[in-house]
Amino acid sequence: MPPERVADALRAIDAGFDAARRDLEELVRIPSVSAAPEHRADVHASAEATARQLERAGLERVRLATVDGSHPYVIGEWSHAGPDAPTVLLYAHHDVQPPGVVERWASDPFVPEERGGRLYGRGTADDKAGAVAHACAVGAWLTATGALPCNVRVVVEGEEEIGSPSLHAFLTRHRDELRSDVLVLADAGNWRVGVPGLTYSLRGLVTVDVELRALDGPVHSGMAGGAVPDPMMALARVLASMVDEHGDPAVDGLWDDVAPLSARQREPIAGFDDAPDAYARALGLRPGVRLAGDPGVPVHARLWWRPALTVIGIDAHPITGSSNQILARAAARVSLRLAPGQDPRRVADRVRAHVERRVPFGLELHVRALDGAPAWSCSPEGPAFDAAVAALREGFGAEPVLMGVGGSIPFVGPFADAFGGIPALLLGPSDPHSRIHGEDESLHLGDWRSLMRAEVLLLAGLGARSPDELRAATAGPR
Ligand SMILES: [Zn+2]
Repeated sequence: MPPERVADALRAIDAGFDAARRDLEELVRIPSVSAAPEHRADVHASAEATARQLERAGLERVRLATVDGSHPYVIGEWSHAGPDAPTVLLYAHHDVQPPGVVERWASDPFVPEERGGRLYGRGTADDKAGAVAHACAVGAWLTATGALPCNVRVVVEGEEEIGSPSLHAFLTRHRDELRSDVLVLADAGNWRVGVPGLTYSLRGLVTVDVELRALDGPVHSGMAGGAVPDPMMALARVLASMVDEHGDPAVDGLWDDVAPLSARQREPIAGFDDAPDAYARALGLRPGVRLAGDPGVPVHARLWWRPALTVIGIDAHPITGSSNQILARAAARVSLRLAPGQDPRRVADRVRAHVERRVPFGLELHVRALDGAPAWSCSPEGPAFDAAVAALREGFGAEPVLMGVGGSIPFVGPFADAFGGIPALLLGPSDPHSRIHGEDESLHLGDWRSLMRAEVLLLAGLGARSPDELRAATAGPR
């Protein structure tokens, strides 16, 4: 692609930025909460709005696709770059997390508001900005030059935030029309404001419910206390046994499949591992609260390549309305982030075995494993990664950081595998201040523009390679 064409497409991004922002605000106003049945129509409305935007960008055959009653995916394509040009699949999602505690938002989660160069609202950063960025990158090329440097497929999912339950069925049904040589997923984030990130490692996830039951129903704690075991205390003991003094998981056998960190993984990241206080402050850790995890392991490695255990829910009696009773039962939902190599089902089995060995007083135990997903990681090398690094460097005017992420994006592995293990490039619009999934979610508007510029450059960079070249250098697991 001649440099002046690239410059024209970049100018189109700048010229269209205000319109892009209006498109993003239109999407943010639609509460497309995929987890809430009462928002089903909203998820549909956001799919339709996304489809209109993709169509306006010049994508063809734009349509909504559902499988087995799923929330709608939006798909589209542009296939006129010729059979020798590679095909790039652009992924984002249009559904969002629930807003959480609405009172803790400084502004209405579903009314976008700009403050200090950031746009606040649910889905601004995760991931409606990703969907709009794809449309804008495509639109910039088509407006400025009438063509794209490569063939493009676009998938904007409607149920990423509930774990992509229909993804397998969707990919099976649409595999042929979506067949691509490289994936570009705009659902990750940047290292920090102004410094782009390219993510090559994600932790896995498995969730296990543990329930202990002592009684048919609650009994008087004065009449029976001292003789009847308290299921809440029993549960607390069991939970406490699942972590060590650093807060690292201590479930029996859990570390068997965790590879020791390589020298490269242990290497401290300047400006991060040497500044744990800044990291703690950025998260809002209260004064005096220490970070968890083995202090001998750099913080970034604790977050990216080691398992972590969190109790994300407890069933007991709330304090309000409580009375002098021994509860009949208590339950906890335990969420485990998994290191590369850990199998979610095997981890769930280990949790079950660990708990079975520790149930006090012979209480009734019920353990239920929910859906899980393994970690994903690759070696960030080869022509596709080189193109991404170059595009991000120029788009942001800063050297990109090759990074891991402690979170899980379960669809990345299945997506890459569906097309023969093609390379996956994870970039995106969020940054450490974006509070995705939290209250006051926000998007840095300057970085968003840089991301769109980088995506314009990336399409040119990928379009300059042959499909075989991009696929051949598919990076295996690290
Ligand atoms: Zn997301």
